[in-house]
Amino acid sequence: MNIAIDGPAGAGKSTIAKRVAKELGYIYVDTGAMYRGIALYLLDYDIDIADAAHVEKKIENITIEIKYEEGVQQIYLNGVNVTARLRMEAVGNMASKASQLACVRAKLLHLQRQLARENDVVMDGRDIGTNILPDAEVKVYLTASSKVRAKRRYDEITANGNCADIDTIEADIITRDKQDMERAIAPLRQAEDAVCIDSSDMTIDEVVYHIMKLVSGERL
Ligand code: C5P
Repeated sequence: MNIAIDGPAGAGKSTIAKRVAKELGYIYVDTGAMYRGIALYLLDYDIDIADAAHVEKKIENITIEIKYEEGVQQIYLNGVNVTARLRMEAVGNMASKASQLACVRAKLLHLQRQLARENDVVMDGRDIGTNILPDAEVKVYLTASSKVRAKRRYDEITANGNCADIDTIEADIITRDKQDMERAIAPLRQAEDAVCIDSSDMTIDEVVYHIMKLVSGERL
């Protein structure tokens, strides 16, 4: 059984997917974290992503692994656990740019499909329902207004004692969505057989409840 959850940046996909996976006893796969792992490598080595052939050569031999430690997904880049460094805005923005490249997508496609073949998964990302797992039993397109998404992100950052500017966050989100929706390969879009859930005015519990209903075979 595979559940695909796609949607724009900051829609709450990972929070929801984690909860659904826990309720069902499935594995949660955060594919964005894999793109972020590659982005981190490109940033650390200052690799110019405008040169696709160069990027392809550089990432050819790197390893991205996904492991579960006490039930929590960890990303290993070349054998080193880099999970703690992946959530930075710069890494997310680089991931969005790098994910436009065919060589980057190809590198992760196999790993993602293999995880879904070997496990019951709740997988979140941008192209899971449309491209990675077109036969997923349940597909959800989770969205929310850019204002709500920016506010959630702002609250998350400031709750950790850091400063943030909500307008800058919203502008970043809008730029990232545009990039993800307009790229040539596997752009973000709602799969024809996906159910769209707009969580702008919903609580986490309500969204999880809706998805659990879909899993049990009820249409919304
Ligand atoms: O979901 P997250 O913000 O961690 O994803 C970072 C970036 O990785 C996205 O903006 C998107 O460009 C890319 N991505 C993708 N396909 C996926 C998951 C993420 O292109 N399945």
